[in-house]
Amino acid sequence: MGQNSKPTYPTTFGPMPDAEGYFGEYGGQIIPPELKQIMDEITDAYEEIKNTDDFKNELAYLFKHYVGRPSPVFHAKRLSDKIGGADIYLKREDLNHTGAHKINHCLGEALLAKHMGKTKVLAETGAGQHGVALATACALVGIECEIHMGEIDIAKELPNVTKMKVLGCKLIPVSRGTRTLKDAVDSAFEEYLKNPKDFFYAIGSVVGPHPFPMMVRDFQSIIGKEAREQFVEMNGGLPDIVTACVGGGSNAIGLFTAFLKDESVEVVGVEPAGKGLDTPDHAATLTLGEKGAIHGFKCYNLQDEAGEPLPVYSIASGLDYPGVGPQHCYLKDIDRVRYESITDDECLEAFMTLSRVEGIVPALESSHAVAFAMKEAERVGKGKKILVNLSGRGDKDLDFVVSKLGL
Ligand SMILES: *Cc1c(COP(=O)(O)O)cnc(C)c1O
Repeated sequence: MGQNSKPTYPTTFGPMPDAEGYFGEYGGQIIPPELKQIMDEITDAYEEIKNTDDFKNELAYLFKHYVGRPSPVFHAKRLSDKIGGADIYLKREDLNHTGAHKINHCLGEALLAKHMGKTKVLAETGAGQHGVALATACALVGIECEIHMGEIDIAKELPNVTKMKVLGCKLIPVSRGTRTLKDAVDSAFEEYLKNPKDFFYAIGSVVGPHPFPMMVRDFQSIIGKEAREQFVEMNGGLPDIVTACVGGGSNAIGLFTAFLKDESVEVVGVEPAGKGLDTPDHAATLTLGEKGAIHGFKCYNLQDEAGEPLPVYSIASGLDYPGVGPQHCYLKDIDRVRYESITDDECLEAFMTLSRVEGIVPALESSHAVAFAMKEAERVGKGKKILVNLSGRGDKDLDFVVSKLGL
């Protein structure tokens, strides 16, 4: 070790984050003082209610009777046999109401907003997945919801747009700049700044200023908590490897949290390598990013020389974020989690293989984790067990894949 100031696992693996919202050197609140005060109020409100029986029972009730939890763990036997290596198990978040893991934290955020007496929940959406999950949660909880979405994305993602409208949320088309996610973020944030006391900005992953990386992680940690118990019950022991795709990092940290203290379990996050790490068209933030600030917190990010976020790319629109959750950055630095990447082509192949061998159509985001598991199963060989988080279902991706592959 010697001079190395790098924290080491597991001795410094304490409660995360610290009181200022830092995971090691990452996270925090890089925001103006007025906003800091509002974020501190949200932190206090969350800390106050998170351990009350009322809040815990309400969330547990909704997870069970509304989302349909626990989601099953499925032994993908035919897939494993086809590869002829390690056994692959899938945590089926695709079976949740609304078809992905996002509903877990959207419900938590909507309940918190309501509890705090906020009048409106606000967010941006890219492909519309966060928008739909949030509009769903707000309809259920009974709180106004406003979603900002770029005009180009609106034209591309019609089913999600229609769904948000049916769910009763106010959809604001964003016509400035790139007319995509980047400008939708700015537009939603401007609206939020008009009245941050009464509005609640619902962040869609483990990113943004403290307390969001912590809070969204806590809401998502149900995934790993269930999966660990289910896996042990099925197999009498822990998996050798757990893995999940990483965009902002919420489904991954939701699974990983339950296994971080198990030294025998190798933990792997999978980033989108897009058209290749040697091209500009990827979003492999942890693999190729540099330390910097983005959207109110510090993390690895993909930025240009002026420190502006680069236009990142992935075939899976849920993964193309130029930053990444601060806890992932910390876990990378202490070598507790390994981060790998998967290209568009490998992702598409996994999408088709899982569909045809198991009858499960995965989201393109989740297909990155499946593709990694398939490669890894072959590499580590028989006798090992790999648990994959299947973060969502692929219905939203069908038209795209069909036209891309010419089926
Ligand atoms: C949004 C999304 C992701 C990426 O978000 P994380 O915060 O990294 O989990 C992954 N999978 C699906 C199905 C999604 O909708």
